[in-house]
Amino acid sequence: MLPDSNGYYGNFGGRFVPEILMGLLEELEQNYNRIKKEKWFKERFKQMLADFVGRPTPLFEAKRLSGKYGFRIFLKREDLAHTGAHKINNTIGQAILAEAMGKTDIIAETGAGQHGVATATACAMLGLNCKVFMGTEDIKRQYPNVERMKILGAEIIPVDSGTKTLKDAINEAIRYWVTHADKTFYLIGSAVGPHPYPSIVRDFQSVIGREARGQIRSKIGRLPDMIIACVGGGSNSIGIFWPFMKENVKFIGVEAGGKGERIDQNAATLTYGKPGILHGALSYLLYDENGNIYPTHSVAAGLDYPGVGPAHSFFKEAGRAEYHSISDKEAIEAFYELSELEGIIPAMESAHAVAYLKKLKGKLSRDAAVIVNLSGRGDKDLGEFEESR
Ligand SMILES: *Cc1c(COP(=O)(O)O)cnc(C)c1O
Repeated sequence: MLPDSNGYYGNFGGRFVPEILMGLLEELEQNYNRIKKEKWFKERFKQMLADFVGRPTPLFEAKRLSGKYGFRIFLKREDLAHTGAHKINNTIGQAILAEAMGKTDIIAETGAGQHGVATATACAMLGLNCKVFMGTEDIKRQYPNVERMKILGAEIIPVDSGTKTLKDAINEAIRYWVTHADKTFYLIGSAVGPHPYPSIVRDFQSVIGREARGQIRSKIGRLPDMIIACVGGGSNSIGIFWPFMKENVKFIGVEAGGKGERIDQNAATLTYGKPGILHGALSYLLYDENGNIYPTHSVAAGLDYPGVGPAHSFFKEAGRAEYHSISDKEAIEAFYELSELEGIIPAMESAHAVAYLKKLKGKLSRDAAVIVNLSGRGDKDLGEFEESR
């Protein structure tokens, strides 16, 4: 069973938090384990994914891209989900869970703003109060997402301490949670954090892989040979991998290699990191010999996180998945290629997964089938992209 009863995936995961948070995490775990099995919960989640998010998202055979690379390429279209990415699957799931636990207030932290928007969206639809903690530096940089959250009725709590970015927003959110725990649910946006969050997020995102399984079977009569997904915290990737876990399907996780043409050793967590503790869990992490976490940087804000979910650290050590990094330049090339060949403008994060296809050219047979998880659409990136050209 993964994770084990203490929240470990092999050597990774667990719950490395101050005593004061232990009780809250135990309450969450007990409630989740009970509620997730209830029929009404499963039905409500499914209904909202269908009617609000627009699921199932299609599995599209990208024929022109396939022609170019010499094997069959299928795109799982999370870019077509409401709000333009997979994050909404998780925020709706956790918001319904919060409601079932009798919590009326949702808090979240956001860096680039994508998780904040997905959380504000779920809260608006369910009539929950929403507070989003955000560093003042990030508020300046991510203005359109700040506006979106406000339009959706969320309250933005500016965090002006430390580096005024995600790390500080997380600290503030936790402080708020501890002091307002009776009414408040802390909604985490990726498959990271202390147990049980990585597993809750994995479960809600697994809808991607479950759908893809049925869809690829009906298209080619068998399972795929390989699945490729980008890895930031690791939620879209674990979501599409998990339902194929026991099958003979190769998993490739693609990390952001950082600035420019070079792969930057301070950017790709699973490629260059080592085990350490961040945000309540033991996992691969980027830090120097003094224990300072590296500031990461990528063209894809969603991949700009110095840690990764514990399930991926386990997959890496167990050899169940391979992790590779793609540079900003390679991702930008793939962004154009997918746009021009298939009429789909991908999110810069997803473009990293698409870019890996090039590395497979000449290595697979013509009838090999590869699924790429297209985690989101590119509209959000156009502003930043113009600047970088
Ligand atoms: C946030 C985001 C990611 C990275 O997050 P994961 O938790 O690793 O999935 C990838 N793609 C898009 C479009 C995102 O918004």
